[in-house]
Amino acid sequence: MDLRTSPHEQAFRGEARAWLSEAVAALPPRPEPEDWTGRREFDTGWQRRLFEAGYAGLDWPEEAGGRGATPGEHLIFLEEAERAGAPYVGVNFVGLLHAGPTLAAEATAEQRARYLPPILRGDEVWCQGFSEPGAGSDLASLSTRAVRDGDHYVVNGQKIWTSFGQVADFCELLVRTDPEAPKHKGISWLMLPMDTPGIEVRPLQTIAGSSEFSEVFLTDVRVPVENRVGEENDGWRVAMVTFSFERGTAFVGDLLRTRELHRSLAALARETGAWDDDEVRRDLGHLGADLDALWALTLRNVTQAERGSGVPGLGGSVFKLHYTQMRHRLGDVALSILGRSGLSLDDAGREHVRGWIYAISMTIAAGTTQIQKNIIGERILGLPKEPR
Ligand SMILES: Cc1cc2nc3c(=O)[nH]c(=O)nc-3n(C[C@H](O)[C@H](O)[C@H](O)COP(=O)(O)OP(=O)(O)OC[C@H]3O[C@@H](n4cnc5c(N)ncnc54)[C@H](O)[C@@H]3O)c2cc1C
Repeated sequence: MDLRTSPHEQAFRGEARAWLSEAVAALPPRPEPEDWTGRREFDTGWQRRLFEAGYAGLDWPEEAGGRGATPGEHLIFLEEAERAGAPYVGVNFVGLLHAGPTLAAEATAEQRARYLPPILRGDEVWCQGFSEPGAGSDLASLSTRAVRDGDHYVVNGQKIWTSFGQVADFCELLVRTDPEAPKHKGISWLMLPMDTPGIEVRPLQTIAGSSEFSEVFLTDVRVPVENRVGEENDGWRVAMVTFSFERGTAFVGDLLRTRELHRSLAALARETGAWDDDEVRRDLGHLGADLDALWALTLRNVTQAERGSGVPGLGGSVFKLHYTQMRHRLGDVALSILGRSGLSLDDAGREHVRGWIYAISMTIAAGTTQIQKNIIGERILGLPKEPR
């Protein structure tokens, strides 16, 4: 890729910077972490502002309602948003970063026209119903059943770890449509309206005190057949498209926030005197170098995706593996700098304590570290498949 910025991109940076500084100053107060109604209102309100200003779906193709910006412009906007302290996607994560892109790549023209604009405008929030109590890493073993009844599927089963389930309007749902077929061949990908009768959402509380994910129970839930994306029993292939966005491009904004976290940790080290310790400076230096390398990898992955089929490749697994492990190390260094105040979420270093806790979940979400290693080993390095 070309790493130089063109005069056009420099002008774009200037416009984005000016708009962001005004828009961020006009934001209402941020809601409390457990005020889910408030969080939905805040996050979708920001998304609407982006949409109205022409900054929503920058990297989405124009025919999907996006701006069709170059990879360079997309990354410039993210950098400027980070610099301005703008909100991140929040509850719009699934819709904007993997359900929407999957629809843009796989849905019919009618489905795209119906579902994509409300995601970009912040009118509709999505969640992901893939994992089940008995199907996480081995997702293809999922047992939520969908039985055809005329022009509907009748769905029964249970999903778990459904992030933002309690505020979502739609769910990207994986169901088993053919129990007789080999496990990867009998799955379909459905768009489930979350207000359909028979859905019960039960929020789960995590060790961090947050209830951002839920269990979702489905009893005789009727989903129109027209809500299926891709062919019946071809849902595993569609899910792989979802994962390539979820593991690849979805982390770009998160990485920028980590760069900020790293800067703020270095500042904290200076304040507390930890900076005088050679080992702390060396650790922070290594982490900074890692972040630079990850940013270069991101530029490569995003450019490859946007110049190719639009769907990111397996480079997403390499990125996810290294990035999430780096977040663990960042958390460990932060706790060593914080010392006793790392035991509390009330002290000055709370963003770093939260970051440390969050890092634990990052090596699990969107496919665990071990699963990324299997993918890289088998599909990139061509090593023998793990025994079944
Ligand atoms: C923050 C967060 C948000 C999430 N959001 C969602 C969501 O919105 N929607 C959704 O559907 N799911 C979501 N998940 C669930 C996530 O996808 C699963 O937790 C993940 O796929 C792992 O599945 P599991 O928890 O069942 O663990 P398991 O699959 O039971 O794994 C347990 C351990 O065994 C290891 N293991 C399993 N199989 C292998 C193997 N073949 N080789 C080597 N090691 C193996 C794993 O790496 C892991 O260490 C979320 C998870 C987190 C942490």
